[in-house]
Amino acid sequence: MAVIAAVEAGGTKFICGLGTEEGKIIEKINIPTTNPEETMKRVIKYFKDKKFDVMGVGSFGPIDPVKGSKTYGYITKTPKPYWSDYNMIGELKKHYDVPMEFDTDVNGAALAESWWGAGTGLKNLVYITVGTGIGAGAVVNGTMLQGLTHPEMGHIFLKRHPEDKFEGRCPFHKDCLEGMAAGPAIEDRWGKKGQELMDKDEVWELEAYYLAQALVNYILILSPQRIIMGGGVMKQQQLFPLIRKNVQKFLNNYVYKKEILEEIEKYIVYPGLGDDAGFIGSIALGKIALDSLK
Ligand code: ADP
Ligand code: ZN
Repeated sequence: MAVIAAVEAGGTKFICGLGTEEGKIIEKINIPTTNPEETMKRVIKYFKDKKFDVMGVGSFGPIDPVKGSKTYGYITKTPKPYWSDYNMIGELKKHYDVPMEFDTDVNGAALAESWWGAGTGLKNLVYITVGTGIGAGAVVNGTMLQGLTHPEMGHIFLKRHPEDKFEGRCPFHKDCLEGMAAGPAIEDRWGKKGQELMDKDEVWELEAYYLAQALVNYILILSPQRIIMGGGVMKQQQLFPLIRKNVQKFLNNYVYKKEILEEIEKYIVYPGLGDDAGFIGSIALGKIALDSLK
């Protein structure tokens, strides 16, 4: 049985572990994300005595996942201190001579959800995480979407709510989707963390207004067969009916499909892999490396 080593490189923690070709977790540990030297030393120490055939690495972005590119395997320009222009795959390759696959954590999660999660059997879906940042990945015709680089669907531009005066907090665009609707934007706008605002309906109405616009754009551009929404903010389950209602309202019967008109509660859903979607996404990336050997 082949063993897949998997790394989910996140902004607050790295999850390292081992998994199977069927997307099952054998074991995993958490390592806090500090600077690259310290963090990667602990990652390498963890895998030192492990036996594995391939490695999948799903990372926070922006990254360069395009094979053949000069900076392939790098975390590229990030506002995250210390991590700009960091050669993540280069460092791992120094220690492990196994085939590796590198992509965004959300592209990996989208693939894993299409194989083993809430989108099993679907060849076109979008996975979006709403947490410290907003990121989304896509599976299109059965493969992860990649082109010039990876998609950056967390930074799209939206119609501002007429009563919303919050200026937005994306360091690049101010009031893009992430700047208006990620966890830190909720905290800045309302003065408290999302976890503490559960009973404030206006918070979730506004949040759903922005997230639904994003989903409408994804639907119109990519035509996903399902949209999967994870991340800390989506723990507020009351968001789901609000988002679904707004998606229907904004589309206004234009996409005339029963999935949206009649069965939207099956179309916009929580991850089937739950909180493990990101880590199992890295196992899915590893499986791509494994399949390339066959
Ligand atoms: P990360 O994005 O760092 O991997 P999370 O997905 O947990 O981690 O996102 C953290 C963000 O989500 C924080 O801004 C936090 O306030 C928010 N958050 C976490 N849990 C909840 C919750 N239950 N309800 C609302 N917001 C939450
Ligand atoms: Zn932005």
